[in-house]
Amino acid sequence: MSRLLVVEDEAHIASGLRFNLEADGHSVVLADTGEAALASLAADAANIDLVVLDVMLPGIDGFTVASRMRAKGWLIPVLMLTARGRAEDVLSGFEAGADDYLPKPFELSILVARINALLRRHAWHKAARDAASGPARSAPYTFAGKTVDFDAQELQVRARKYPLTLMEANLLRYLVQHEGKAVSRKNMLEDVWNLHEDTDTRAIDHFIARLRKYIEKEPSRPKHLQTVRGVGYKFVASPK
Ligand code: CA
Repeated sequence: MSRLLVVEDEAHIASGLRFNLEADGHSVVLADTGEAALASLAADAANIDLVVLDVMLPGIDGFTVASRMRAKGWLIPVLMLTARGRAEDVLSGFEAGADDYLPKPFELSILVARINALLRRHAWHKAARDAASGPARSAPYTFAGKTVDFDAQELQVRARKYPLTLMEANLLRYLVQHEGKAVSRKNMLEDVWNLHEDTDTRAIDHFIARLRKYIEKEPSRPKHLQTVRGVGYKFVASPK
């Protein structure tokens, strides 16, 4: 059973979510403000498997909650509930560290499916992380003096370790798997996020910018995560 923290100030939506998620076999903790959500996480982050986070909240908004979570090193998957038709909310959400988003109003069945998809990806990572060795765990990948442990969601650059969010780790894995080849933003959204609707592909750019900060000596002049004009991005392990 997964434990979900639902951050939503509209009581009827919150109770509807709780009812449906419990019916789907999850346990649900509710928070009606961002501050309350951060307090719940501070008390018990290790036992929360996923956060459903509304953007529009009284007090601090969902973007602030997500970025504070990431700043604290809580890498719990975040599914953000955004306002429909606000592409900038989607971008801000990804920038703040959300793993996925759903515009309001949404179909409950779609929300439940998205939550379960994120939980499965996360559970797989967690199992691989907990197993010291074994078939589930993939070997860390080393390039140019940097080591990425995708399962542990950790990047090591010299003595420094950077924790990666689930989607940062998944995106980097995808780019590494296509080493030396240009991949389009659309393919990244489809293959890494499983998003097929009309998502703003600039969301990817925020993730790339974050990854560049970790792995590039000069993030503004990237050598490993290269921009391919008119296409997308290309990962190069050993640039000339
Ligand atoms: Ca709200």
